[in-house]
Amino acid sequence: MMKDIQMVDLQGQYANIREEVDEAVRRVLAESRYINGPEVGAFQQELAAYTGAAHALTCASGTDALQLALMALGLQPGDEVLTVPFTFVATAEVIALLGLRPVFVDVRPDTFCMDAAQIEAAITPRTRAILPVHLFGQCADMERILAIAHQHNLYVVEDACQALGAQVTFSDGSVHQAGTMGDAGCTSFFPTKNLGCFGDGGALFTHDDTLAARIRSMANHGMSEKYYYDHVGVNSRLDTLQAAVLRVKLRHLDQYIAARRHAASLYDEALADCPGIVTPAKASYTTHTYHQYTLRVAPEYRDALRRQLADAHIPTMIYYPRPLHLQTAYQYLGYHEGDFPVSEQLSYEVLSLPMHTELTDEQIQYITEQLRF
Ligand SMILES: *Cc1c(COP(=O)(O)O)cnc(C)c1O
Repeated sequence: MMKDIQMVDLQGQYANIREEVDEAVRRVLAESRYINGPEVGAFQQELAAYTGAAHALTCASGTDALQLALMALGLQPGDEVLTVPFTFVATAEVIALLGLRPVFVDVRPDTFCMDAAQIEAAITPRTRAILPVHLFGQCADMERILAIAHQHNLYVVEDACQALGAQVTFSDGSVHQAGTMGDAGCTSFFPTKNLGCFGDGGALFTHDDTLAARIRSMANHGMSEKYYYDHVGVNSRLDTLQAAVLRVKLRHLDQYIAARRHAASLYDEALADCPGIVTPAKASYTTHTYHQYTLRVAPEYRDALRRQLADAHIPTMIYYPRPLHLQTAYQYLGYHEGDFPVSEQLSYEVLSLPMHTELTDEQIQYITEQLRF
């Protein structure tokens, strides 16, 4: 009997590493150093080594990582940050929460990432930073984005919450991990992310020693030395228990990404000539970690197809059904329908298929058979 198909199979993933994880958790419980225990520092070092970043700084979530990056860069209320409307809400939310202004740039229909060709038109004298999102597991066009940022003296903060482990090759041949190309990069350890813990967690990457010190301070109430505060900060920490789990799972990350790529290649092959369905495009400058495997389906068929798959016990998701510029909370920005036509069109067309590290070839074959109606 084939196992039930899920969007994500965290139980199956745990079962395969149970002994390693349980041993690590037992070690933390025995030591009982739940806040900033030795596992946290060790994980930061291992994560820095994995990504090649000079500093990997853990915090309580991917959302906090984004907020901490903007705080540490010293952006002031009213400053404008360029980002995309086709993303998870956290990307724009942290900008708005800090009194900064999210200014949207549309995405590309092929990669779902920020369209670098549209950035310059959105730059004003108040623009201070660009916040591209490496959506669904592949990177935005960082070389072009960095060049534009350099020319206009802007910071770059990468939202790499979905793309840990993806690699970008620049035209000089140098290879860079997602999250390590901008002034700061942010990732999330939400359980379903490429590297997920057993609760909430996040991290920032930077090569800049001064910025790293500011981020560390901001995440610890703005403290400089014990009970002396230089900045208005927040409390944002990764639990020792989560760090212990993540140390185990980091050792498996490359294998997890390989499993996602294998699943994606089977989907690609089976759906290549399927009428009405466009499989995900892969940009030449980046590898893809397939955090999501997202199809484009003609809008008039998408919802019917989704119901048909549900009847065949195949779950699917729509990431994302409404772009941020059309969300109630962001009406105050003054955008209207039609302002970001690619994001709007994608919200009618996208359909994400089950994608996780435990999908079997048999399950994928079953899914693609149901799709080829
Ligand atoms: C998951 C995610 C976040 C937020 O991460 P949390 O750990 O859930 O706070 C931010 N941006 C993107 C693109 C994400 O996918």
